[in-house]
Amino acid sequence: MATIPLPAIASGPAEAAHSGIREVVNLALVTPGCIRLEVGEPNFPTPGHIVDAAIEFARQGQVKYTATAGLLSLRERLAAKLGRVNGISAGVSNINASVGGVGGIAGAVAALVEPGDEVLVPDPAWPNYRLMLAWAHGVLVPYACPPSNEFLPDPREIERQITSRTKMIIVNSPCNPTGAVFPRPLLDELVDLAVRHNLYFLSDECYDEVILEGEHTSPASFCTDGRVISAFTFSKTYAMTGWRVGYVVANEKISDSITKVLESNSSCLPTICQKAAEAALDGPREPLQQMVKAYRERRDLCVGLLEEAGLLISRPRGAFYIMADVSRAGLDSREFAFDLVKSKKVAVAPGTAFGESARKAVRISLASSPEDLSQGIARMIERIEELSA
Ligand code: PMP
Repeated sequence: MATIPLPAIASGPAEAAHSGIREVVNLALVTPGCIRLEVGEPNFPTPGHIVDAAIEFARQGQVKYTATAGLLSLRERLAAKLGRVNGISAGVSNINASVGGVGGIAGAVAALVEPGDEVLVPDPAWPNYRLMLAWAHGVLVPYACPPSNEFLPDPREIERQITSRTKMIIVNSPCNPTGAVFPRPLLDELVDLAVRHNLYFLSDECYDEVILEGEHTSPASFCTDGRVISAFTFSKTYAMTGWRVGYVVANEKISDSITKVLESNSSCLPTICQKAAEAALDGPREPLQQMVKAYRERRDLCVGLLEEAGLLISRPRGAFYIMADVSRAGLDSREFAFDLVKSKKVAVAPGTAFGESARKAVRISLASSPEDLSQGIARMIERIEELSA
């Protein structure tokens, strides 16, 4: 039989680069005894009462499909949480429960971005925004959140990047990978920019309750004209990464579009996971407070170690990451990260995985044990000294 070339596969996924963190994970996995500081996942178990509630619900046998946007009982609880914690006034029709925060953000991108639309994306940033825009054939326009300014952007510089094709700005505070928390005056300026240029404002607040110092402000608490879309998750706050429960809040028209996107992707979230999320919202706050306290102690430990070695860039105020300056090693952060696994059995995430602005930095996850953090950072410092000698 004559072979004919198959039709072209979609260019978006085909041409997108794989995650630069994955490369290091893969090497760490085949390096016995490697200290793992590269992954952003809480090292705590999901609190017991949440697990128990899910098991109990499964035993009752009522595990069926739910509404695509999520159980009404869950969305009612989420509306209450948004009011209480974020100062956002939302009703159930503004909320879609999604497969993690990632599902809600991807749903919002699919609902808003058309081919050729320009989207302002922080640099450095969580790599998934890039992939979502690739599927949507949107144009990613990175805006700098440079180490020299504590990883905060300059709104005047962003304004210069706005064109007639700009549709949306994505803001991520508290930020992965930098731990920056955008102060209220900066958010005021960014929202003002979005209003003046009539842009959507996608606010990724997946670390909203992982605050190490100061306060987190939700832009939708003060910008109420419907342009702000806010995404949240249970993954970080409640150590529930594998349960895959997130939610996205938007005006009714956008929410309805997001529901249609989610309908095609997932029909609905696993019902037992939605019940687990309800239990998390109904349950005690102590487990969450204890986790944040532990991240804060680890942050202080790492700030001390990195500062003493002259590698500290800025003090993280939220999320559970700290960036270290590795420019003295004389290598690109990707090369440095590979070298560190091979030479010292320590895995960190290279800044290059997040963007140009972090090319000379690496991300260390505070979701690792204090022992691993001390040992891993000591070995990293040793390696930088060897390379710069
Ligand atoms: N936003 C940011 C900035 C993140 O770091 C992550 C997870 N690493 C998410 C969203 C999504 O997390 P999840 O899908 O587990 O809720």
